[in-house]
Amino acid sequence: MGPTVHLKLTHDLALEEGFSEDEAQLIAYADLDYDARYPARASLANITRHFAPTAWLWSAAHMMRALRGHDLQMLGYALHCAQDAVAHGRLGTRHLVAHAGLGVDPDVWETSPASVQRRTEAFTRERLRRYRGGAR
Ligand SMILES: [Zn+2]
Repeated sequence: MGPTVHLKLTHDLALEEGFSEDEAQLIAYADLDYDARYPARASLANITRHFAPTAWLWSAAHMMRALRGHDLQMLGYALHCAQDAVAHGRLGTRHLVAHAGLGVDPDVWETSPASVQRRTEAFTRERLRRYRGGAR
């Protein structure tokens, strides 16, 4: 997932869920920055941050820190891991399928299956709401 999800979708959903423009930008840029900060190609440990099922654990850990520290950057990280977990599939199976020529590139939002788009949005909204309910 690139800027279409990690930046634009996150920003737009944050606004819809009641965050201010400044807050929405902070969350979205943290979400987008996660790939540069923890590039999947750099190490095996980093790969666990971008693929299910381990990305769910990272998302939960970042979410806990976001809530404890009232930390919007951590919230952005939590969103990134959840969004990747949905889009990339279990242990990156969607990438393997795509490389085999049997499916669409999981990093392209526009051609993602509707079910993946729906779930990505649902998991993003759920975390944004949880933050607003718990950290304010
Ligand atoms: Zn990622």
